[in-house]
Amino acid sequence: MVRAVLMLSVFLASGVHAASQPRELAQLRDRMDGFLIAREGRPVAKIVTAPDIDRPFDQGVRNQAVRDLIRVVAIMSGAPLPAVQDTLAFNDGPQIHIGQTEFVKRERLVPTGLPISGYRILTTSERGQPRLVIAGATVSGTMNGVYDLLTTELGVVWGVDSPLFEEIPRRSTVALPAIDRVGRPGLPFCMVTGPSLAWQLRNRLSDRGVEYPYSRHGHNMMAFFRISQYRDHPEYYPLVNGQRKIPRQDEDTRVQLCFTNPDVIRITIEKLRAYFDANPNVLGYSLCAADDDEFCTCETCSRLDDGAPEFRNRQIHSDSYFHYINEVAKALRETHPGRYISAYAYDATEPPPRRIPRLPDNVVVFLTQDATQHFDSAYRQEDDAILAAWKRVAAHVCLYEYPSLGWILPRNFTSLVAERMPYLARTGIDGLYAEGHPHPAHLAPALYLTAKLAWEPTANADSIMGDWYRAMFRESAPQMQRFYVTLDSAWTHADRRGFWFAGSNRMWEEFAAYPPLYRETAWHHLSAALRAANTEVTRQRVAYIRAGHEPAYRVARAFEWAHALTPESSEEEIMRVLDEFEMFMTTYFTGVEGDPAYSDTYYRGYRFHERTKWIKLDILRCIDRALVNRTQVRQRLLETSPTFSEMNDTARNRRTVGYRRWTNKSMGERRIYPDYVSDQPPYLPME
Ligand SMILES: [Zn+2]
Repeated sequence: MVRAVLMLSVFLASGVHAASQPRELAQLRDRMDGFLIAREGRPVAKIVTAPDIDRPFDQGVRNQAVRDLIRVVAIMSGAPLPAVQDTLAFNDGPQIHIGQTEFVKRERLVPTGLPISGYRILTTSERGQPRLVIAGATVSGTMNGVYDLLTTELGVVWGVDSPLFEEIPRRSTVALPAIDRVGRPGLPFCMVTGPSLAWQLRNRLSDRGVEYPYSRHGHNMMAFFRISQYRDHPEYYPLVNGQRKIPRQDEDTRVQLCFTNPDVIRITIEKLRAYFDANPNVLGYSLCAADDDEFCTCETCSRLDDGAPEFRNRQIHSDSYFHYINEVAKALRETHPGRYISAYAYDATEPPPRRIPRLPDNVVVFLTQDATQHFDSAYRQEDDAILAAWKRVAAHVCLYEYPSLGWILPRNFTSLVAERMPYLARTGIDGLYAEGHPHPAHLAPALYLTAKLAWEPTANADSIMGDWYRAMFRESAPQMQRFYVTLDSAWTHADRRGFWFAGSNRMWEEFAAYPPLYRETAWHHLSAALRAANTEVTRQRVAYIRAGHEPAYRVARAFEWAHALTPESSEEEIMRVLDEFEMFMTTYFTGVEGDPAYSDTYYRGYRFHERTKWIKLDILRCIDRALVNRTQVRQRLLETSPTFSEMNDTARNRRTVGYRRWTNKSMGERRIYPDYVSDQPPYLPME
């Protein structure tokens, strides 16, 4: 609102000259008057859409943003807004022009040079009739404009990716102030995987189906080197421990190339040129390396990589990989200027090469960083230095981040987002891609803030979040704010060091980030929020967050209680651990796995079972320690407790031998373990 008023005063100041012409004077008056969408529950304006918004128009309005506009105004005021395509419209009253209608094009209302996602919102007039114009250079930009209007002027909040959290204010008359605003994102693109596309579009996150400059990436390099074509050329593939590592099948994304082999470079250039010739409208191609840390150690690759310092315990191969990227980019630049290739600065190639001071401008580097770890200032400074170094080497740098990594325990880093987003905007990146797959109950505030700051990086994060709490939880907002702030404090203040991919497949690292005091305090605030709810909608929303959070609460208690068991513990105390663990599994299956809003990649199927393997083995170990002299009790538990018997089966499975060895090694190397349990570090038994 403040912004709209400001724009008006700017317009008035510059409108002195324009007012000398009668037509512009009339337009100025209309702009000052604003625009009426509905009065006393009846529609005043009609929606007129550009042809490309819904093509064909046989089935009427299908565009999600236009449908949302109609739906929101109907829920808000009761007024059903008519909508028609431009070619069928008559100039018969107030109209909302969505997209580049004939009127918008004729009057040149869309500024030139708008980015793909940009738009203009304008109240104006056409032959004395009021017009509200929402139009971008692309359909995607126009849709962003509609959602800006719905959330900014009409006050709608889509705060969590679930229909339960759609917040639409009610008013019988829907009137807009005069508006003339151009929307441009703070980051060229901001993509988050995981939440539904509908929710992403409503929050103006970038549609992954739209091609933005420099947005292409993915472990795609091997598409040019299918094993079915190059079976006679093992030298194209990496030399690992003295042997060539050969792809198991054509789509193997776990095998690298020999990046210094001249034929590998030549074939890449030939295929890349052919690809761009065959696809004249595609701007970029991903030569991001495979998702594997076994790089080639042949003589020529080693000559480049030898002596590279380790980075975060990883062997670095940036020199050989970026030698390949550099050679291909130089050749591509000769024949296909204007096209680009993308490369990951990830894992073994995260730091910039030492031997290439500057890559050609047709390379975009996707730098992967786990910015959730920035509670550790030393870790953060290291990340900042890497980004600064990459900015010197590459003309285009995008960030690739990891908000969730499948955490079941809370990982609320909203306060870090508030610092990170303005920092990225200041640094000047070409886009942000987040492998989101969020846990909505824990990540909703961080995700919402990310979407808001992607457009306005310098906006006040506290005030955005204050509005979010009030809109989402109304009378329970203070308690819910305390709940999330407690989770945020647990994440940012727990005494542990930052670690790339911490917690990924290592549940003990999740427990390290959630000490009992935070756990009980958070649960207390959540229960208080439920008690404070005196409307059905608030009660349901708090209950939804509680259902997503409860498995974390239960499993963290089971873990703590299991470690408190001794040979003196009673059978009831042991049963309490097992019951709590069973509550964890039950609440997980109902509150998380049963909810489609939890991404299928991390919170479903085998990954959950892989993730919980360790906690089963660990609790079993604690119980066995307590039952060391009570074999009959143990036998009875096996017969009566399905939970205990399943833990026991997991441990007896021969396939867990390798897993236990890996776990013990990882615990020793990484040293991220809960400091609130007494036995440190509790290696899994190997027998
Ligand atoms: Zn090699």
